[in-house]
Amino acid sequence: MTPPRNGPAPTTRCCDRRFAAGLTRCCGCHKVATAMKRARSARPTKSNRHRAQEIAQRIRELAGLCQARGVPLTVQRRFILHTLLDMGDHPTADEVFAEAKRRLPGISRTTVYRVLDALVKLGAIGKACTPGSAARYDAGTHRHHHLVCTRCDRVMDFDAPSLDLPVLPSVSRLGFQINDYSIHFKGVCEACSRRLASRPGLATRRRGSAGRG
Ligand SMILES: [Zn+2]
Ligand SMILES: [Zn+2]
Ligand SMILES: [Zn+2]
Repeated sequence: MTPPRNGPAPTTRCCDRRFAAGLTRCCGCHKVATAMKRARSARPTKSNRHRAQEIAQRIRELAGLCQARGVPLTVQRRFILHTLLDMGDHPTADEVFAEAKRRLPGISRTTVYRVLDALVKLGAIGKACTPGSAARYDAGTHRHHHLVCTRCDRVMDFDAPSLDLPVLPSVSRLGFQINDYSIHFKGVCEACSRRLASRPGLATRRRGSAGRG
């Protein structure tokens, strides 16, 4: 990238996206930029000022996790992690499979399920389970909690440092060791609340009949 001749440019181009001044070279995410461009056109992605850089970073982390376990960083693992990161929400395995198949028509359901489980075991992604619903795969591996809509099953991330325990409780008397925790708050999401307010009849219908939000 050549510096501008007349003073600093207000913005710098990196991977087809404009970022704030101060970025003087490509972030190194050009390798995933092509795939990102393809994905952007069909599916809305979580708005992030520098999403491609985040994905490149997560793939580097995955490489480190694989190396630490002595397992190969396969193309499928990279591909499924990338797909999940682009989806940006908490999709079910079936939803990940649908998106993966759209991008790579030859991929099988078994492969997607197997790779998702491998990524969870490696600690590269999380798995959120709520009773009565299909397991959700979670690209976020930092400590966070979830808001679960009981009408449309949507799962949203919720950061709440006040809920982060300084020390995990000891339950060794029960022969159990707690390694991790996250809190699921159940309720009604904004979209469902709006639907309910505009069409009060929906409130009496059975859960799920209002469709997915
Ligand atoms: Zn870049
Ligand atoms: Zn909802
Ligand atoms: Zn989450």
